[in-house]
Amino acid sequence: MKELLRYLNPLARLGNKKYSVFFPLIFSIVVCVLSEMFAYGVVKNPEIVGVYIIFINVASIIYFAFRDGVKGGFTAVVVPIAYYFYIIYTRNYTGDRFIGGIEATLVLAALYLVLAGVIGWLKQTIDGLIEREADGRKRLESIIEQLPVGVIITDSEARVTQTNKQVENILGIGIPKGFVIGKDKPILDGQHKNKIITPSHSPVAQALVSGKQVTNREFLVEKRDGKRLFLQVNASPIRNGRGQIFAATSIVTDITAQKEMESRKDEFINMASHELKTPITSMKLYVDFLLGKIKEKDERVIKSLKSMKYQIEKMQELIAGLLDISRIQTGKLTFNKEQFNISELIKETISELQATTHRHKISLLNKAAINIYGDKFRISQVLTNLLTNGIKYSPDGGNINIGIKRQAGKILISVEDEGIGISKSEHNKIFEKLYQVVDPQVKTFPGLGMGLYITKEIIKRHGGRIWVENKKSRGSIFYFELPLKKT
Ligand code: ADP
Repeated sequence: MKELLRYLNPLARLGNKKYSVFFPLIFSIVVCVLSEMFAYGVVKNPEIVGVYIIFINVASIIYFAFRDGVKGGFTAVVVPIAYYFYIIYTRNYTGDRFIGGIEATLVLAALYLVLAGVIGWLKQTIDGLIEREADGRKRLESIIEQLPVGVIITDSEARVTQTNKQVENILGIGIPKGFVIGKDKPILDGQHKNKIITPSHSPVAQALVSGKQVTNREFLVEKRDGKRLFLQVNASPIRNGRGQIFAATSIVTDITAQKEMESRKDEFINMASHELKTPITSMKLYVDFLLGKIKEKDERVIKSLKSMKYQIEKMQELIAGLLDISRIQTGKLTFNKEQFNISELIKETISELQATTHRHKISLLNKAAINIYGDKFRISQVLTNLLTNGIKYSPDGGNINIGIKRQAGKILISVEDEGIGISKSEHNKIFEKLYQVVDPQVKTFPGLGMGLYITKEIIKRHGGRIWVENKKSRGSIFYFELPLKKT
């Protein structure tokens, strides 16, 4: 029954380019035969046929043109027109009646053909559009299926409508259609930023609510077989032509191998710096011992030993940086916070660093005493890093000014130089681990790209923030904000 209804329903055949001639032909012939039987057998008046048959014919032309296109529509025209001629012939029309009959039949034939043509053409155009859309969808599905990353597509309610096979390959378990991301219980247990994953962490749900892309969210999940998996997830909303969100996509990448590599690298840095620390500390002790023992007249030996000591101290700084990075990675960077006078600390740091350069003039613009709560040693590390950068990246010398401003519950410190500046596109990247600007001119400066990464972490762990701005003239200004009181 269902099959029969599908066969008869023209709407169910939209997009189906199989156009039948057989059904309209048989149907039209049956209508003509029934009409003849009605005229001769039931009402016994051959003249009665004419008017009623026209309604049936028009309806069947519309139906078949919509069901079987131009071909079906024309078939439903040809049979009745032939039947009309048959009526004129069998009813023995003569004179004006004959001519009138022929004229009416020709006019009807023209009208029927136009009707069948227009509706049939419309139906075929719609079929073409539907087919094109289906082709486009299939092409997209095939691309999605072959992507090396997991793809999840949802509707605007975050209900999964499609996934590719990579999702199952990565997670070891598929996500069923109809699963509501951000509402249903997460498919796998795991963590996001060391917190148990909850539906509210879902990037898709966040992208749908905010209407913005959510990028590079990392999750650590445990597969059903117990293996740990690092996932990177990106999600973005999809809008229609009117700008309304109707779906969202989520790209899931397995970054376990990359994470393991990074962790091995971090382990190596940690081990190497620990191993280097002991011999370098004893080297420095020996140099200090020799410097203490040497006779005053051995000027050249003293000079060499002093240079050696300076280089050893540089190495110690590098190792300290590497150890700090490793502490940050493993969450072992600890702080001894206390109340201290930051203005004093800035003055001390300035005098220490001013002694290393004659070409730069380091000044504190506002000398008011301000106390803050924090780790004095770590904050001095921040100041030293920003000032040494200011010196290092101002090869032609110039002024380096430090400003302090008290704001509601906070202190804002600025370090401004007249050096080479930093292009805007690098402003966020310079705070990343081991990042250095690749500009060939800047590349000539020595360094490992550790300083600002450590600096940012220290500021962050004090509840503050750091950023950089370009100056209108030459140079850059680094700003950092710290809360005045314990947070
Ligand atoms: P390093 O100085 O060892 O390379 P940092 O983490 O301190 O590492 O700085 C990262 C990068 O930021 C540097 O390589 C440099 O390109 C840029 N940079 C930092 N401070 C300045 C500055 N004051 N002026 C211009 N560029 C800077």
